[in-house]
Amino acid sequence: MPSNESPRESLARDRVRIVLVGTQHPGNIGASARAMKTMGLSRLVLVAPEKAPDRDTVAMAAGADDLVENAPVFDSLADAVADCALVLGCTARSRRVQLEQLEPDEGAARALAFAEQGPVALVFGRERTGLTNDELQLCHASIHIPSDPSFSSLNLAAAVQVLSYEVRRTALGGEARAAAPASGMVTSEEGPAPHAELEGFFAQLADALDAIDFHKGRTPDSAMRKLRRLYLRAGLGSAEVRLLRGVLADTQRMAMLAGRANPPPET
Ligand code: SAH
Repeated sequence: MPSNESPRESLARDRVRIVLVGTQHPGNIGASARAMKTMGLSRLVLVAPEKAPDRDTVAMAAGADDLVENAPVFDSLADAVADCALVLGCTARSRRVQLEQLEPDEGAARALAFAEQGPVALVFGRERTGLTNDELQLCHASIHIPSDPSFSSLNLAAAVQVLSYEVRRTALGGEARAAAPASGMVTSEEGPAPHAELEGFFAQLADALDAIDFHKGRTPDSAMRKLRRLYLRAGLGSAEVRLLRGVLADTQRMAMLAGRANPPPET
């Protein structure tokens, strides 16, 4: 690592994680590593690659194979981002899910602002099918590179290059928006809770909504998607997550008591 690096460049290098999910072509893993290294990023993370890195990976990495060698491999995206303060999903399709959608420079500015608080993940999908809806649901927001809508899908490593470049530009201070804390996303004073804490909250929220029969026979998916979006947008801190979980615990306790003391009438 260059010793004359600025603090923001160090943040980008150490805290901004590029997560490749279910990569199908090992060559793309190498090309992505090269794209990252040219832009001063170092943290490559793989989630269930279809094929392990091989000779094609090394060839395409062209000297960035150290990033591949050091890349942890996870079974699921949730595990790969469990400790992250911010998770942004890159998608070739515009407005595919009900997630806030950012331009690449906005995504980079937000990523670097959150990197002050903890690791940040930029998540990239499979070459053929991209990210699943469930994987996108794990993200706080999405990033779309404004490509031609009639031919919108970049090669995986090309997309990694665009985002890595934007992160570097922001780190070098060329982007005024970077100064605004998390541009558009308010966080608690203590900083954002790690992703795994939010997932624990969402699991309990789903259980509590079941316990109070909130869905009344409807499928829970749509309500849960909207609630996830709402809470992810809120930038909750750990203490706030604990407070909400306390509310849910009492909700669940009351539902249980109500169920015991006064079972809902048969209609
Ligand atoms: N056919 C897939 C495209 C996969 S391309 C689909 O329709 O989703 C592989 C990955 O590169 C994508 O999952 C995404 O993470 C990234 N990518 C490609 N084009 C992109 C774009 N225009 N904006 C943002 N990310 C893009």
